This record gives sequence, structure tokens and C-alpha cells, in this order.
Amino acid sequence: MFEETIVALATAQGISAIAVIRLSGIDAIAITQKVFQGKNLLDQPSHTIHFGNLKDGDRVIDEVLVSIFKAPNSFTKENSTEISCHGSPVIVKEIIKVLLKHGARLALPGEFTKRAFLHGRFDLAQAEAVADLIHAETDNARQAALNQMRGGFSKEINALREELIHFASLIELELDFGEEDVEFADRDDLKQLIYKIQKYTRGLIDSFDLGNVIKNGVPTVIAGKPNAGKSTLLNTLLNEEKAIVSDIAGTTRDVIEDEIILGGINFRFIDTAGLRETQDTIEAIGVERTRERMKKASLIIYLFDLTQTTLEDIKAEEEHLLSLNIPYIKVGNKVDRADPTLIERLTAENFIFISASEKIYIHELKEKILSYFHVNAVKTGDVMVTNLRHYQNLLQTHESLDRVLEGLDHGITGDIVAMDIRQALHYLGEITGTITTDDLLDNIFSKFCIGK
Ligand code: GDP
Repeated sequence: MFEETIVALATAQGISAIAVIRLSGIDAIAITQKVFQGKNLLDQPSHTIHFGNLKDGDRVIDEVLVSIFKAPNSFTKENSTEISCHGSPVIVKEIIKVLLKHGARLALPGEFTKRAFLHGRFDLAQAEAVADLIHAETDNARQAALNQMRGGFSKEINALREELIHFASLIELELDFGEEDVEFADRDDLKQLIYKIQKYTRGLIDSFDLGNVIKNGVPTVIAGKPNAGKSTLLNTLLNEEKAIVSDIAGTTRDVIEDEIILGGINFRFIDTAGLRETQDTIEAIGVERTRERMKKASLIIYLFDLTQTTLEDIKAEEEHLLSLNIPYIKVGNKVDRADPTLIERLTAENFIFISASEKIYIHELKEKILSYFHVNAVKTGDVMVTNLRHYQNLLQTHESLDRVLEGLDHGITGDIVAMDIRQALHYLGEITGTITTDDLLDNIFSKFCIGK
């Protein structure tokens, strides 16, 4: 157990019915007792709740409920308390202040979860899923995070890793015999194991395409020349889909984004505020900026103004679109005013025609958008990779194992083979946190919110 007792507000900032302040550490109950008036919390059993006054000296700050969790039966596996007070920022501030005075210190982001991990409550992949669960913006993302939090692929990866460790030890034992020509590790068995691991990791690697879309959404750009109707289309889509217009400062993102959820997928419109601004700027600059944004997208909805466009214009614009190598949908806007012969000629070009302002064929556009992403509802127990770090480690595991196979086929010496196996073990171990460094942990937990 850590010496220091940490404290943080566990519920959202601002005014609410109730706020919960959380403490964890060896002295969590003792420190809470110092500011609590009602009964002696130190004598109370674990998992009990107690009503009383929360005091700073003689001054009562609030009437509160204190929940007690005794090590190891708490989230962090440490002594913990949760103080439920009235949800006023002033009360919260005063209570935290008095707790700091009595020996607690402010928790760092993710520190509760980090302690839970370090005490073996769950592995690293599961700890990361806790944050994903909190930040899930769609039901699919929630389910995927919950599946991962409940174990996901961790057990299987650890089991395969154990088998591989067995071979690594045998090969390293061979090396101890130096000149003697001994082979403890059956090369065919080793190959079979590597095939088995690669089959499993390949499945996980392939699941990332979808997992990433489910967790992070699809960065989408609505592009096109000025006046093509981009803002109008965005507004139409946002109004129809009860958009989430997020403005979450200082948590996961610091820009305002427009998002719509279609078919269980979050489509995030990149910097559309910026796009709106550029309407008044000189056309050349506006187009250039839009092009820069398009490069960051996973999907481009490209609008052509059917009342202003010739076939030659379209060809030129499409050449640029093609060069970006990003999926795009060609949309002819202002179909309400378009020349029917132009529409006829473009029909063969895989266009979709809409009127953004008159809300015509918007449903067809949505269907087209969804046709790029085949997402079935995520079910309990579905295993998929949603985390970029896991994905990269899986790729590196796969590459290391490829080198082992290559080495075996070419009769490379045991020491090199052993090195590549060790590398694969390292990458696998980092996923579940069997192997960690302080940097890795800091990097992961610093992205959590304070109080989690
Ligand atoms: P942006 O510069 O691409 O964002 O274009 P806007 O959304 O500001 O639209 C430019 C002009 O085209 C505005 O006057 C819109 O009302 C008009 N407009 C947008 N969509 C349509 C449409 O479907 N039909 C017609 N007739 N006008 C439209």
C-alpha cells in the first residue's frame, strides 16, 4: 500500500445534487475521521455508510455520508472512503482543503486507477478500458470498453505469452551448453506455437479497423468550393440527428466539435468551425485550408454546386480528391435548381444528388456514408482492439515472430532466435502490463481524468 493518501473529487465539477470526494491510501479512514463528527469511523466495518458532520475545527462545512472500504476490498485495494456531500463547488473546495490540511494530498490524473493496477486489481489493458468506458460516446463504444474491462483478450494473450516463455527458456538453456550441439526446444513445436500466436494476434490486428471507428469515431470533412453548401449541409445533418455539440474543455479535447451518431458510429466533423469562418476569406486561401483539413479526415463528403459546375470543373476537382487516397463521397448539391442534363451526365459518375437547404435525399446521403463502415452492434463478450497502443504492440509482436520463423527456416543460431522471441514477449507483455516502465504508465494514466 502507498504511504500517501490521495484525495480528489470523483464526480463532475459544478453544481449538482450530490458530489463525491474520494480518498485512498493507508490513512484514508483515519484522515476522514479527523474531520468527521458522528461516530468513530475507525471502528466501523468495511462497506458501511455513516451520516455525520464534516468539520474544519469547530466549523461544520456540511452534513455528509461517508462510505468506508477497507483494504483490500476497495477499487484501489487500499483503505478508501467516499464522502458524499451536497454538490456545491464551495463545499467541495472546503472539504478537500481540510482533508489536505490533515495529511492527504491531491490525486494526479488516473492515480486511483493506477494504484488499482499496481495492486493487481486488473491488468493494464483493463485499466485503460476503465477510461474508455467513461469517455464512451456511443452504445457500441460503451459495450466494447466494458468487454475489454472484463478481461477481453488479456487472458488469451497472457496464456500464449506463457507458452512462448517456456520456449524462450529452453532455447536459452541450449545457449548455456555453448559448443555442444543440443536442442531442448523442438523447432517444429515452436513453429506451431508461433502460428497459433500469430493467428490470434492477426485476428486482433484486423479488428482494429472497426474497433478504432467504434471508439474514436470517424473524422469527417465536408469539403467543396465556397458556396457549394457545406455549412448548410452540416446544419441539416446536425439538426436531423440531434447532434452532440461538444464543448468539453480540458478533458479529452479542447476544441469545439460537431458530432453526429449514425448507425452507432460517431462522425466527427473536423474543424468545421474553421470551415465556417473561411467563407469570408479569399477563395484561394479558403480552398488551401480546406485541403489541409481534408488530409486529416477518414471520410470526405465532397460537395459540388450543381448550379455552378461544369464537367471540366468536376474532373479537375476529382483528380485532387483521388490523389488524397481517402474515401470520399461525391455529392451534387442544389439538385432543386440543377440542370437535368447535367444530372443525367453525372449519374454515371457515381454521384449522389441532394439539396442541403431543401433537405432532399439527405437520407440517401446518410445511407451512402454508412455503406463505408460495416458495424454490427457490439455484443457482450465481443473481443476487439480499440486502443492504438495495443494495436501497435500487436503489430510489433507479429513482426518479431515473423523474424523468429524466418530465423528457424534459415537455421539462424539460437541466440538470435532467442532475441526475437524475447522481443515478441516484451511487446505482448506491455499490452497487459506484465512489463511496464514508469514512462509507459505515466503516459497512460496522465490521460485519465482526476478522481478516476
Ligand atoms: P458553403 O460556403 O459551402 O458553406 O455554402 P453555404 O452553406 O453557405 O451555402 C451557400 C449558399 O447556397 C447559401 O445561400 C445557401 O442558402 C445556398 N444553398 C445551400 N444548399 C442549397 C440547396 O440545396 N439548394 C439551393 N437552391 N441553395 C442552397
